[in-house]
Amino acid sequence: MIQFKPVKTNRIFEDVLVQLKDSILSGRFKPGEKLPSERELSLEFQVSRGVIREAIRALELRGFVGIRQGPAGGAYVTDLTFNQVGNAFLDLFKTNKLSMQDIAQVRLHVEPEVARQAALNFNTSHEDILMKAEQEEHIDYVSYEDRIDRLTRVHKSLARICGNQFFEVIVRSMLMLTAEVVLTVASDHDLLHGPGEHQGVIQAVISGDGDGAAREMARHLQQFSHNLIKMEKTYRQRYS
Ligand SMILES: [Zn+2]
Repeated sequence: MIQFKPVKTNRIFEDVLVQLKDSILSGRFKPGEKLPSERELSLEFQVSRGVIREAIRALELRGFVGIRQGPAGGAYVTDLTFNQVGNAFLDLFKTNKLSMQDIAQVRLHVEPEVARQAALNFNTSHEDILMKAEQEEHIDYVSYEDRIDRLTRVHKSLARICGNQFFEVIVRSMLMLTAEVVLTVASDHDLLHGPGEHQGVIQAVISGDGDGAAREMARHLQQFSHNLIKMEKTYRQRYS
Protein backbone atom coordinates (compact mmCIF):
# COMPACT_ATOMS: atom_id res chain seq x y z
CA MET A 1 0.00 0.00 0.00
CA ILE A 2 1.18 3.51 -0.76
CA GLN A 3 -0.54 5.33 2.08
CA PHE A 4 -2.94 7.58 0.26
CA LYS A 5 -5.77 8.66 2.56
CA PRO A 6 -9.33 7.63 1.80
CA VAL A 7 -11.27 10.58 0.41
CA LYS A 8 -14.10 11.91 2.57
CA THR A 9 -14.91 15.32 1.14
CA ASN A 10 -17.29 15.98 -1.69
CA ARG A 11 -14.43 17.35 -3.74
CA ILE A 12 -13.36 13.84 -4.53
CA PHE A 13 -11.69 14.47 -7.84
CA GLU A 14 -9.66 17.49 -6.62
CA ASP A 15 -8.58 15.62 -3.52
CA VAL A 16 -7.35 12.64 -5.51
CA LEU A 17 -5.58 14.92 -7.95
CA VAL A 18 -3.86 16.91 -5.20
CA GLN A 19 -2.67 13.79 -3.41
CA LEU A 20 -1.34 12.23 -6.59
CA LYS A 21 0.36 15.46 -7.60
CA ASP A 22 1.93 15.83 -4.16
CA SER A 23 3.20 12.27 -4.33
CA ILE A 24 5.08 13.22 -7.52
CA LEU A 25 6.29 16.62 -6.28
CA SER A 26 7.55 15.10 -3.05
CA GLY A 27 9.49 12.51 -5.03
CA ARG A 28 7.56 9.50 -3.74
CA PHE A 29 7.11 8.66 -7.40
CA LYS A 30 10.20 9.56 -9.36
CA PRO A 31 10.62 10.42 -13.05
CA GLY A 32 10.34 7.25 -15.13
CA GLU A 33 8.36 5.37 -12.46
CA LYS A 34 4.93 4.05 -13.18
CA LEU A 35 1.99 5.09 -11.01
CA PRO A 36 -0.01 2.21 -9.50
CA SER A 37 -2.78 0.90 -11.73
CA GLU A 38 -6.26 2.41 -11.83
CA ARG A 39 -7.52 -0.60 -9.89
CA GLU A 40 -4.91 -0.27 -7.12
CA LEU A 41 -5.44 3.47 -6.80
CA SER A 42 -9.20 3.13 -6.73
CA LEU A 43 -8.94 0.61 -3.88
CA GLU A 44 -6.60 2.78 -1.92
CA PHE A 45 -8.44 6.06 -2.42
CA GLN A 46 -11.76 4.24 -2.08
CA VAL A 47 -13.20 6.01 -5.08
CA SER A 48 -14.42 4.77 -8.43
CA ARG A 49 -12.01 3.95 -11.23
CA GLY A 50 -13.64 6.71 -13.28
CA VAL A 51 -12.45 9.32 -10.77
CA ILE A 52 -8.93 7.88 -10.87
CA ARG A 53 -8.98 7.92 -14.66
CA GLU A 54 -10.03 11.59 -14.67
CA ALA A 55 -7.34 12.52 -12.15
CA ILE A 56 -4.67 10.76 -14.19
CA ARG A 57 -5.86 12.51 -17.32
CA ALA A 58 -5.58 15.82 -15.48
CA LEU A 59 -2.05 14.93 -14.41
CA GLU A 60 -1.23 14.12 -18.01
CA LEU A 61 -2.59 17.47 -19.22
CA ARG A 62 -0.48 19.26 -16.63
CA GLY A 63 2.60 17.39 -17.81
CA PHE A 64 3.17 15.33 -14.67
CA VAL A 65 2.69 11.94 -16.29
CA GLY A 66 2.82 10.47 -19.77
CA ILE A 67 0.49 7.63 -20.72
CA ARG A 68 2.07 4.62 -22.39
CA GLN A 69 0.08 1.92 -24.13
CA GLY A 70 0.82 -1.79 -24.35
CA PRO A 71 1.57 -4.55 -21.87
CA ALA A 72 3.88 -2.38 -19.75
CA GLY A 73 1.57 0.59 -20.27
CA GLY A 74 0.30 2.97 -17.65
CA ALA A 75 0.89 6.45 -16.30
CA TYR A 76 4.61 7.16 -16.09
CA VAL A 77 5.96 10.10 -14.15
CA THR A 78 7.63 12.57 -16.47
CA ASP A 79 10.77 14.43 -15.67
CA LEU A 80 9.50 17.70 -14.26
CA THR A 81 11.06 20.15 -16.60
CA PHE A 82 10.27 23.73 -17.45
CA ASN A 83 7.20 22.57 -19.34
CA GLN A 84 4.78 23.17 -16.51
CA VAL A 85 5.51 26.87 -16.43
CA GLY A 86 5.48 27.04 -20.20
CA ASN A 87 2.13 25.27 -20.34
CA ALA A 88 0.64 27.72 -17.86
CA PHE A 89 1.75 30.64 -20.06
CA LEU A 90 0.44 28.79 -23.08
CA ASP A 91 -3.01 28.48 -21.50
CA LEU A 92 -3.03 32.23 -20.88
CA PHE A 93 -2.00 32.87 -24.45
CA LYS A 94 -4.61 30.51 -25.90
CA THR A 95 -7.34 32.16 -23.88
CA ASN A 96 -6.25 35.52 -25.21
CA LYS A 97 -4.96 36.87 -21.91
CA LEU A 98 -1.47 37.27 -23.30
CA SER A 99 -0.60 38.66 -26.71
CA MET A 100 2.48 38.18 -28.86
CA GLN A 101 3.08 41.87 -28.44
CA ASP A 102 3.33 41.34 -24.68
CA ILE A 103 5.65 38.39 -25.14
CA ALA A 104 7.85 40.13 -27.70
CA GLN A 105 8.22 43.11 -25.37
CA VAL A 106 9.25 40.93 -22.44
CA ARG A 107 11.64 38.96 -24.63
CA LEU A 108 13.25 42.24 -25.62
CA HIS A 109 13.88 43.02 -21.96
CA VAL A 110 14.86 39.57 -20.80
CA GLU A 111 16.92 37.99 -23.57
CA PRO A 112 19.50 40.77 -24.02
CA GLU A 113 20.04 40.64 -20.25
CA VAL A 114 20.37 36.84 -20.46
CA ALA A 115 22.94 37.26 -23.25
CA ARG A 116 24.82 39.82 -21.12
CA GLN A 117 24.88 37.47 -18.13
CA ALA A 118 25.94 34.59 -20.36
CA ALA A 119 28.90 36.69 -21.57
CA LEU A 120 29.87 37.60 -18.00
CA ASN A 121 29.44 34.01 -16.83
CA PHE A 122 31.16 32.51 -19.86
CA ASN A 123 33.97 30.00 -19.49
CA THR A 124 35.69 27.79 -22.05
CA SER A 125 33.44 24.82 -21.27
CA HIS A 126 30.53 26.81 -22.69
CA GLU A 127 32.17 27.37 -26.05
CA ASP A 128 31.39 23.86 -27.30
CA ILE A 129 27.75 24.16 -26.27
CA LEU A 130 27.30 27.38 -28.21
CA MET A 131 29.25 26.31 -31.28
CA LYS A 132 27.38 23.01 -31.44
CA ALA A 133 24.02 24.80 -31.11
CA GLU A 134 25.05 27.13 -33.92
CA GLN A 135 26.16 24.29 -36.21
CA GLU A 136 22.92 22.41 -35.66
CA GLU A 137 20.97 25.30 -37.16
CA HIS A 138 22.47 24.49 -40.54
CA ILE A 139 21.49 20.81 -40.65
CA ASP A 140 18.55 19.95 -42.91
CA TYR A 141 15.40 19.73 -40.90
CA VAL A 142 12.96 16.83 -40.97
CA SER A 143 9.91 18.73 -39.71
CA TYR A 144 8.93 22.21 -38.62
CA GLU A 145 9.21 21.05 -35.02
CA ASP A 146 12.75 19.95 -35.69
CA ARG A 147 13.54 23.20 -37.46
CA ILE A 148 12.23 25.45 -34.72
CA ASP A 149 14.00 23.33 -32.14
CA ARG A 150 17.30 23.80 -33.98
CA LEU A 151 16.79 27.52 -34.49
CA THR A 152 16.08 28.13 -30.81
CA ARG A 153 18.98 26.12 -29.40
CA VAL A 154 21.28 29.12 -29.14
CA HIS A 155 18.60 31.00 -27.18
CA LYS A 156 18.19 28.01 -24.83
CA SER A 157 21.94 27.53 -24.47
CA LEU A 158 22.45 31.17 -23.53
CA ALA A 159 19.69 30.85 -20.93
CA ARG A 160 21.52 27.83 -19.52
CA ILE A 161 24.92 29.52 -19.57
CA CYS A 162 23.67 32.73 -17.93
CA GLY A 163 23.65 30.82 -14.66
CA ASN A 164 20.24 31.91 -13.37
CA GLN A 165 17.70 29.10 -13.55
CA PHE A 166 14.77 31.44 -13.23
CA PHE A 167 15.91 33.27 -16.35
CA GLU A 168 16.09 29.88 -18.02
CA VAL A 169 12.51 29.05 -17.03
CA ILE A 170 11.28 32.37 -18.39
CA VAL A 171 13.20 32.14 -21.65
CA ARG A 172 12.10 28.57 -22.31
CA SER A 173 8.49 29.44 -21.59
CA MET A 174 8.60 32.34 -24.01
CA LEU A 175 10.21 30.16 -26.66
CA MET A 176 7.47 27.61 -26.17
CA LEU A 177 4.85 30.26 -26.88
CA THR A 178 6.72 31.45 -29.91
CA ALA A 179 6.99 27.87 -31.17
CA GLU A 180 3.27 27.32 -30.67
CA VAL A 181 2.42 30.24 -32.94
CA VAL A 182 5.07 29.52 -35.53
CA LEU A 183 4.18 25.83 -35.75
CA THR A 184 0.48 26.53 -36.06
CA VAL A 185 0.83 28.94 -38.94
CA ALA A 186 4.05 27.47 -40.31
CA SER A 187 5.11 27.70 -43.88
CA ASP A 188 8.54 28.42 -45.23
CA HIS A 189 7.48 31.99 -45.77
CA ASP A 190 6.39 32.38 -42.16
CA LEU A 191 9.46 31.04 -40.40
CA LEU A 192 10.98 33.70 -38.23
CA HIS A 193 14.58 33.56 -39.17
CA GLY A 194 17.03 31.33 -40.94
CA PRO A 195 20.18 29.64 -39.69
CA GLY A 196 23.35 31.56 -38.93
CA GLU A 197 21.69 34.61 -37.42
CA HIS A 198 23.03 34.17 -33.90
CA GLN A 199 26.68 34.52 -34.80
CA GLY A 200 26.97 38.12 -33.61
CA VAL A 201 25.58 37.22 -30.18
CA ILE A 202 27.75 34.12 -29.93
CA GLN A 203 30.95 36.00 -30.78
CA ALA A 204 30.19 38.69 -28.20
CA VAL A 205 29.43 36.07 -25.53
CA ILE A 206 32.61 34.11 -26.28
CA SER A 207 34.71 37.24 -26.02
CA GLY A 208 33.08 38.08 -22.68
CA ASP A 209 31.58 41.29 -24.03
CA GLY A 210 28.37 41.70 -22.00
CA ASP A 211 27.24 44.97 -23.56
CA GLY A 212 27.95 43.67 -27.05
CA ALA A 213 26.03 40.45 -26.39
CA ALA A 214 23.03 42.38 -25.09
CA ARG A 215 23.11 44.71 -28.09
CA GLU A 216 23.38 41.87 -30.59
CA MET A 217 20.52 39.96 -28.99
CA ALA A 218 18.28 43.03 -28.98
CA ARG A 219 19.06 43.59 -32.65
CA HIS A 220 18.29 39.95 -33.45
CA LEU A 221 14.95 40.03 -31.61
CA GLN A 222 13.90 43.28 -33.23
CA GLN A 223 14.42 41.75 -36.65
CA PHE A 224 11.71 39.15 -36.24
CA SER A 225 9.39 40.42 -33.48
CA HIS A 226 7.29 42.29 -35.98
CA ASN A 227 6.78 39.14 -38.03
CA LEU A 228 5.79 37.21 -34.92
CA ILE A 229 3.14 39.75 -34.00
CA LYS A 230 1.74 39.49 -37.53
CA MET A 231 1.64 35.70 -37.27
CA GLU A 232 -0.49 35.93 -34.16
CA LYS A 233 -3.35 37.33 -36.24
CA THR A 234 -3.37 34.24 -38.44
CA TYR A 235 -3.11 32.08 -35.34
CA ARG A 236 -6.12 33.70 -33.67
CA GLN A 237 -8.16 33.43 -36.84
CA ARG A 238 -7.49 29.73 -36.93
CA TYR A 239 -8.67 29.30 -33.35
CA SER A 240 -11.61 31.67 -33.34
ZN1 LIG B 1 17.06 33.49 -32.76
